[in-house]
Amino acid sequence: MMSLNRAYIFLGPPGAGKGTQSKRVARQWGVPHLSTGDMLREAIGRGTELGRVAEPLMARGQLVPDELVMRMVEERLRQSDAAGGCVFDGFPRTLPQAQQLDRILEKRGFGKPVVIEFCVAEDDLIRRLSGRRMCSVGGEIYNLVDAPPKVDGICDRDGGKLEQRPDDRAEVVKDRLRAYERQTKPLAEYYRKQNALDEVDASKSMEEVSRALTEIMRRTEGPNGRL
Ligand code: AMP
Repeated sequence: MMSLNRAYIFLGPPGAGKGTQSKRVARQWGVPHLSTGDMLREAIGRGTELGRVAEPLMARGQLVPDELVMRMVEERLRQSDAAGGCVFDGFPRTLPQAQQLDRILEKRGFGKPVVIEFCVAEDDLIRRLSGRRMCSVGGEIYNLVDAPPKVDGICDRDGGKLEQRPDDRAEVVKDRLRAYERQTKPLAEYYRKQNALDEVDASKSMEEVSRALTEIMRRTEGPNGRL
């Protein structure tokens, strides 16, 4: 049987809920969740050369150079678990990344990506980012106000310690939001022109956003054409 290979792209500003939702969707569909932010944090943790270049840029809320990000993504896509599709979270973030991804997907015989833009007001983003905590072991995301862990400071899933990301501090958040406006937001127009863009109102509750996403996935048949 022919399978429909597809890449899903979750586009939106930091704090919009892309991480939480894209992980859920990937789990639900049994395809990998590819977060370039997670991959870069892992590189920093392992002390690789990429990590050493990325760390100071990330600490200032600036983007990592396209060439490095593309090399990292291409390498990841060569692993067999991504053969039937994947969910990208926080990638692509610039026009050159999007254009290069188009070429990669075409070469792999994937259809047009399905791009979902998370729309939410800036005040909301700042509030969410200041309350965000991340598991230092598995990367699970919590929010002190909207989605707290069962036990204060401890991950429900694996018992890891919850930490605030250094770039979630208020002084860095402003720069990350500016980087998004300038470098990433134009991608919505790029994908809209390709007729590949869907929008969700990400100011709604986690459950409501999740339902809206399931609807979109169903309509687009999901990675691997599994529905
Ligand atoms: P995130 O976890 O998606 O919020 O990403 C955290 C930081 O990693 C960003 O502020 C950037 O510095 C860097 N980063 C993540 N993904 C990319 C990307 N696709 N291109 C460039 N920089 C990225």
